[in-house]
Amino acid sequence: MLVVEDISEIAGRFENSPPQEIVSWAVGTFNKDIAFACSFGLEDLCIVDMIVKAGPETNIFYLDTSLLFKETHELIAKLEDRYGIKFECVKTECTLEQQANQHGDDLWTVNPDLCCNIRKVAPLKKKLSTLKAWMTGIRRDQTPERASAKTVEQDKKFGLVKINPIVKWTSGDTKDYIMKHGIPYNPLHDQGYPSIGCQPCTFPVKPGEDPRSGRWKGFAKKECGLHK
Ligand code: SF4
Repeated sequence: MLVVEDISEIAGRFENSPPQEIVSWAVGTFNKDIAFACSFGLEDLCIVDMIVKAGPETNIFYLDTSLLFKETHELIAKLEDRYGIKFECVKTECTLEQQANQHGDDLWTVNPDLCCNIRKVAPLKKKLSTLKAWMTGIRRDQTPERASAKTVEQDKKFGLVKINPIVKWTSGDTKDYIMKHGIPYNPLHDQGYPSIGCQPCTFPVKPGEDPRSGRWKGFAKKECGLHK
């Protein structure tokens, strides 16, 4: 088991390492005790590609809120076909109907934090409780909350090691990797959606606007609660 001092040392060692090296270390170190939480954004597609090359048996899961775009589901099928893998679908037991009965219709329009807690954070917490480490595709320049993320860190919220292999990358680095490796991506990215989540909470943005400004429009919210 890695202790906190080890984690800081490893993070320092990997600060300038290529992401593929970090991914290889992560899957080799944690084997069946690590999983990658995939949202199928451009960043996460790069990580999927790296994981398949480093350890195709590695568990890759996604949070199905029952509110994802049909284009996202189509992309999932395309990726499974390309890589010959199966993504694990993780979802809350609370159906949309039960949620509406308990909290009112369209909870995301009145209390998106609660909606994200029910549909994303709670099922993620349950999934992570079975693991010793998880991997994410976050980048430091995406949000202020992510600016201090390390390549390897202790996730105090969920109580396990968190590995962020492309934390130093820019959006341009991500796109370059996608193009270079011919990785299929969500067609909505070419229709003004740089960041794609649930359908009711994702809107297109104009060129030059903050890429995440199309998420939870009208609310100060910038994160689902997975990376705070
Ligand atoms: S992104 Fe929106 S719809 Fe999806 S879980 Fe969060 S609040 Fe609910």
